Amino acid sequence: MKKEKTDVLVIGAGPSGSVAAAYLFNEGISVKVVEKNKFPRFVIGESLIPRCMDHFEAVGLLDCLKEKNFEIKTGARFLQGAKVCEFDFSKKHTKGWDWTWQVPRAEFDKTLTDELLKRGVDIEFEKEVLAVDFKENHSVTTITDQEGNSSEIEAKFIIDSSGFGRVLPRLLDLEKPSEIPKHSSIFTHVKDIRRPSGWEGHRITFDIVSQETWLWVIPFSNGYTSIGYVGPTEYLESFEGTMENRLRNLMKLSDHYHDRFEALPYVFEPKMIKNIAKSVKQLYGKGFVLTGNSAEFLDPVFSSGVTFATESAHVSAKLIAKELRGEEVDWETEYSQYMLEGVEVFSTYVKEWYTGNLQKIFFTDSENPLIKEQICSVLAGYVWDKTNPFVKNHHRLVRTVAHITDLEKENAGL
Ligand code: FAD
Repeated sequence: MKKEKTDVLVIGAGPSGSVAAAYLFNEGISVKVVEKNKFPRFVIGESLIPRCMDHFEAVGLLDCLKEKNFEIKTGARFLQGAKVCEFDFSKKHTKGWDWTWQVPRAEFDKTLTDELLKRGVDIEFEKEVLAVDFKENHSVTTITDQEGNSSEIEAKFIIDSSGFGRVLPRLLDLEKPSEIPKHSSIFTHVKDIRRPSGWEGHRITFDIVSQETWLWVIPFSNGYTSIGYVGPTEYLESFEGTMENRLRNLMKLSDHYHDRFEALPYVFEPKMIKNIAKSVKQLYGKGFVLTGNSAEFLDPVFSSGVTFATESAHVSAKLIAKELRGEEVDWETEYSQYMLEGVEVFSTYVKEWYTGNLQKIFFTDSENPLIKEQICSVLAGYVWDKTNPFVKNHHRLVRTVAHITDLEKENAGL
């Protein structure tokens, strides 16, 4: 059996694995990436938020992405019947990126891995991790190729960036039920021949058809648009027939988008992902760290997935480099607590979205520009900025402002 050695083994070549590998490679650390699929491969998660630009920039992956002319995303738009709430990332409390992209992930992720391969990073595609054996000071990972040939990789550290593959959470029994309500999603791509020209492409639109059910519309620069519904699992399962029938019936719920997408062929049979939210008992252990979706995934509602994937990759890769240089690392505070702080902020917004409190603030008739800028920073992914009251006091503030919005409505006799 073939046996190899590396300092760091990265499982999965999505944005999380790519950012981690880029950082370590730049630091001169020996790193190897193993990826189950051949790229390009489809994955969902197409609307980015500005914070991830910091990570791509920090590891030198921004220029290769810029060359692809992906659709520029400058904000987000929420619709509820006739009401509209728009966020513009240039009007936010925290300094930072005020734009990002909307991307077909197959091309986006391949751009990242192509760039890494060009630089000389060792990435092996169509190699699936089957088992990991943790020893005293290293681990031995068994991988297999398409023909069933196995080989072993000895590593000092493993970064598990395997997304919903959730390799180490499965193998080490780290899975834990998420606190986020059970939601599922059905989605596809459409050739958007009735796309209105002008500004609309520059933002994701969320069409809120009920408190817990909403449609995303994400236009790409290649003329295609991603459409997808998110809602309670039981509700989405109550739609019958093929996935195409289900999505077409769901599309009838959208007054804004039904006509635009009616009768247009779907690029692929819509896919359904059930019970999306994922959580784990711990984010790291001796010789390993979990990043991206392999660690936590909340909900698609604020498009935070890729940003958490790149944030966790960047932070963990820095800590591994530090430890390999012989410096002390406190994984509990420097990684786990740091990541969970950000997750908790987003988690409040996701939960309060589905209780309806955040929707009250978004769709109020008496919008407060200061509050809007502060919430905009959260939606841009700047959830570690404690100067933002909507980060620092997230638990309390969303509920309080929603309550005041109710009182204002009552006083106005609405
Ligand atoms: P991935 O991008 O999933 O990459 C993981 C890689 O690991 C894959 O290539 C996989 O093949 C590989 N792998 C898996 N198992 C193994 C194995 N055993 N061995 C080797 N390799 C393996 N996020 C956003 O930012 N914006 C959005 O608009 C958004 N919308 C979403 C909508 C839905 C319905 C869902 C479910 C998620 C959405 N997300 C969104 C989240 C987003 O999909 C993820 O957060 C993001 O892709 C995570 O990146 P990653 O690098 O952790 O994992």
